[in-house]
Amino acid sequence: MNIRTGFGYDSHRLVEGRPFLLGGVEIPFHKGGLGHSDADVLLHAIADALLGAVALGDIGLHFPDTDAAWKGADSRKLLAHVVHLLRERGWAVGNMDCTVVLEQPKLRPHVDAMRAVIAGLLEVPVDAVSVKASTNEKMGFTGRGEGVAAYAVVLVQRLQG
Ligand code: MG
Repeated sequence: MNIRTGFGYDSHRLVEGRPFLLGGVEIPFHKGGLGHSDADVLLHAIADALLGAVALGDIGLHFPDTDAAWKGADSRKLLAHVVHLLRERGWAVGNMDCTVVLEQPKLRPHVDAMRAVIAGLLEVPVDAVSVKASTNEKMGFTGRGEGVAAYAVVLVQRLQG
């Protein structure tokens, strides 16, 4: 098999007084993700999708929240590290698609900035990176604004030679 797919999911609580990092971009909002790292739910879902594609476990295994080294960590570094792990094993990213679920704020104005950051981290063209957003119709924890969730799928391909 020269191609594989992977799936990732993550969620974080949204609380007052934290920066809201999403897809490596700071989104202007009065709440932000609560977590051991910078709580970038989208980059975490993408990292889990990549690890899943090559059956390397999950981000909890690679970046345990008991490890002080990752406290407040920039999730861009986590994702870059995961891409490096794949490269070492002869895999490169083909494309990535994701959906972020949250009620507020509107993400449309920030989607292209997120795509550019993610494409840089995954080492793919921007047109191989899709970022979509959905509300949850006011249902559940995302619908009540208590948290944000993200789902991601990736395709990876075996490098030549
Ligand atoms: Mg997370």
